[in-house]
Amino acid sequence: MTTTQPRSILPAGMISVEKARARILAHFAPLPAVELPLVDALGLVLAEDVRAGFDVPPAANTSMDGYAVRAADTAGATPADPRTLHVVGYLAAGSAFAGEVAAGEALRIMTGAPMPHSADAVVPFEETDEQERGRWTDAPHPTVRIDVAARPGANVRNAGEDVRAGERVLPAGTLLRAAHVGVLASLGLDRVGVHRRPRVAVISTGDELLRPGEPLAPGKIYDANAFSLAAAVRECGGEPRVLDVARDTVEAVTARIHDALREADVLITSAGVSRGDFDVVKDVLAREGEVGFWTVRMRPGKPLAFGRFRTADGRTVPHLGLPGNPVSALMTFELFARPALFTMLGRSDWQRPVARAVAAERIVNPDGRRFFARAFVSFDSAAQRYIARLTGPQGSGVLTSMTLANAYAICPEDVPAIEPGEQCDVWLFDEALVAAAAAHAAPAAADD
Ligand code: AMP
Ligand code: MG
Repeated sequence: MTTTQPRSILPAGMISVEKARARILAHFAPLPAVELPLVDALGLVLAEDVRAGFDVPPAANTSMDGYAVRAADTAGATPADPRTLHVVGYLAAGSAFAGEVAAGEALRIMTGAPMPHSADAVVPFEETDEQERGRWTDAPHPTVRIDVAARPGANVRNAGEDVRAGERVLPAGTLLRAAHVGVLASLGLDRVGVHRRPRVAVISTGDELLRPGEPLAPGKIYDANAFSLAAAVRECGGEPRVLDVARDTVEAVTARIHDALREADVLITSAGVSRGDFDVVKDVLAREGEVGFWTVRMRPGKPLAFGRFRTADGRTVPHLGLPGNPVSALMTFELFARPALFTMLGRSDWQRPVARAVAAERIVNPDGRRFFARAFVSFDSAAQRYIARLTGPQGSGVLTSMTLANAYAICPEDVPAIEPGEQCDVWLFDEALVAAAAAHAAPAAADD
């Protein structure tokens, strides 16, 4: 279902995806910082540098269960010519040893226990006669047989080996993943300052819309956009709030927007921005806010409204008016709303990884707009290349096409078609696929 238009009669006001996005992002900035408990900060961005108040680990400790010794006392030891040391005590993780390990002595020590200052190496149980003796708990061993020569520092984790006191451990702007949360905890922090999540009001407009759970009626369809958009908001770290559907009148849309403005950082509406008789969202924006309407040179998802409302308490709330067709709504969310929400979160990494793929089928661009085809891309490891297949019918109402896609295959504005076997850009949104290709491109470094 494509309406073929000669390129020459494209509306003069059509702008590129990049230009529309740049205009929109000019109105967004990172939100203020909030202090959150560590796990709640997962997926958010540090608002300030984090420095270490002390060394991690705070003290040298043993990485093995064994005997802390003076390495010099074990010099030359072999199973055929072992050394015997006098055992001066026992130390579990969590305690400290007040005494001294003198020449000819050893301290029985458990993983994580701090090294006595006078010892400089740990001989693991496996390299002693530990197994040949009875249980320590039944009768402490007065001596231990050492079967190997320990080098100084063997099996010792030094103080500050992970982090040095005063070091900038995580810079402002770091996106917190599980490992970062662990590092913050290891520094003794229980809360952390991050850019807060944007609160996003999601409003569907249209007389034809029913909410899931209501009985289907003639002429009606279910509101898919409120749910796909709210889910997309959550996927990129925002807090969605879905408002009731607004009917296709200026009054209804105005009322809904005023309701949303009370607590939203940003407003996302769908539908009502094209040229139909009842496309009132743009009328409301024109009346109540500052506004830009653009047709973006992309398919699907051509009409787009962007505006700003002033709230009673003096805040400025940006509004993205996305098109109503369910594929167009999600696609324009991806291209415009996701970068905007990322910006509010303090993130700049919204661009998806782009790769070159070989088109398995023809990708047609009928009217000089950049075509974002829903594609399933796989990595052919034998040929070391991506293959892009379309997900089936590409109509902007075929929402299931989005469920089958792991990438957009791009047919540029000035290319009428990409033929099978030709290369095209693909925007990958499947992290596993990106990782698989990266692994093939560069063999992983060996682990120790
Ligand atoms: P409009 O922009 O209002 O002309 O809507 C374009 C198309 O998208 C129409 O077929 C609408 O029925 C459909 N549509 C609009 N909003 C939604 C929605 N929330 N969920 C599903 N389809 C929608
Ligand atoms: Mg409508």
